[in-house]
Amino acid sequence: MVSNLGIDINMRKNILFLSLVILISLTSVSCRRTSNKNDNKEVILVSFTVLADIIKNLAKDDFIVRSITKPGVEVHGYKPTPSDLVKASRAFVFVDNGFGFELWAEKFVSNLQVKRISVAKDLDPIFISEDFYKGKPNPHAWISPKRGMLYVDILVESLSELRPSKREFFKKNGKIYKDKLSKIDKEFSLFINNINKDRRYLVSCEGAFSYLTNDYGLEEVYLWPVNAESQITPKRMARTISLVKAKNVPTVFCESTVSNESQMVVANTTGAKFGGNLFVDSLSDDSGPASSYLKMLEHNLDLIKKGLF
Ligand SMILES: [Zn+2]
Repeated sequence: MVSNLGIDINMRKNILFLSLVILISLTSVSCRRTSNKNDNKEVILVSFTVLADIIKNLAKDDFIVRSITKPGVEVHGYKPTPSDLVKASRAFVFVDNGFGFELWAEKFVSNLQVKRISVAKDLDPIFISEDFYKGKPNPHAWISPKRGMLYVDILVESLSELRPSKREFFKKNGKIYKDKLSKIDKEFSLFINNINKDRRYLVSCEGAFSYLTNDYGLEEVYLWPVNAESQITPKRMARTISLVKAKNVPTVFCESTVSNESQMVVANTTGAKFGGNLFVDSLSDDSGPASSYLKMLEHNLDLIKKGLF
């Protein structure tokens, strides 16, 4: 009995051990399967959050889409880290805006064997009219919903070239997304057409709104042309203050990735209201008002509407 019991206990121990081995191997197989699902997906590495969000809406689960710069970060003068380089070397493709927006991009990709898509190659630029960047394209084309729709067309085509079998899928996603942009575009056009012409001024910190003001018939006024040089000279300050006073501009704005201190001086000196921070170069995190490109446009246009009405 004793020896039988001993065998019984040993057998039980063996069975338990074997069950554990099977359980562990099953778990690791299923874990591997889950991680394989993502490991096998190619990564689209994008220079900034706005563009990454547009691509996510088109590619859905077909690719892993990641942004190098994080929400809220100033993008023009970003300094890539060694880990950004590692990520890029493993990526399927690197997508940037172009038009000189990412001042770091050329150097960043120069030593990498990664495919590159620059959206701006297929866009018509508006040129910067003064200072250091005079004559260079203004990079912020996405800020106008009308141009946002062009971004969608360009990216649908680029994704389809990367993965021809999914062309119809990308096209369908692009259409759904463009319908949402078109709704935002129509509402804003209607608003602008209904306000008095002498109220159609958009005063911001960075001259990032040229495409929006050009496409919707507003006048653009700014404290500096590009955030990368974000310096306010006494001349520019005086010019902005005198224009806000002369045109009786009701509201002035700044952008989320720079200090609004100088614009507060304009507001306090002229009696104009400070209308809040517009989002341009970077989305907000999930708890903020601009956690996606569509939300960013809605937030901006809503602030502008409230400020100019
Ligand atoms: Zn900018």
